[in-house]
Amino acid sequence: MEIACLDLEGVLIPEIWIAFAEKTSIEELKRTTRDEPDYDVLMNYRLDLLRQHGLGLNEIQEVIATLKPLDGALDFVNWLRERFQVVILSDTFYDFASPFMKQLGYPTLLCHKLEADENGTLVNYHLRQANPKRQAIVGFKSMYYRTIAAGDSYNDTTMLAEADAGILFHAPDNVIAEFPQFPAVHTFDDLKQEFLRASIRTLEL
Ligand SMILES: [Mg+2]
Repeated sequence: MEIACLDLEGVLIPEIWIAFAEKTSIEELKRTTRDEPDYDVLMNYRLDLLRQHGLGLNEIQEVIATLKPLDGALDFVNWLRERFQVVILSDTFYDFASPFMKQLGYPTLLCHKLEADENGTLVNYHLRQANPKRQAIVGFKSMYYRTIAAGDSYNDTTMLAEADAGILFHAPDNVIAEFPQFPAVHTFDDLKQEFLRASIRTLEL
């Protein structure tokens, strides 16, 4: 049996922090895992910026309510779910992702949790576990599942390396150059082909 593991932001939905940065014109919020590989450093930087600007969960959720999955993402997820068990492994937060999950037909999502005070000020964040994407793959492997993973940035690379097959999708040039061991594709059609190529189903057909 095989599990298809997908990153969320940059693969199926827009980068939430970038969308929020654009709405609020806070340029410094455009740093993502593509720019800062250390997630704790990045998150503390984001929470500090939000506090400085007096913005919290309510303002972020208002922006998220205006966003949609990327063009073709829902069709791709449906295509994938006909062929694999699909799990989304994300470094976003349930507090952000819920509206997108509704639009994507509620696929399984493993991600993190934010902590806000009564005013909506974000006071902390709680990671599901350390190195969460890679550990999910380790867990699936311990259950004798074969795994194929796709993601777009630095925080995906340990997941891609741990999986039986890893695919870069929508990755920027610097990530593609640093991780030449993974095939890199940019359209959902090509991503489908990479999943089929990596799958033992294809061998069985
Ligand atoms: Mg991503």
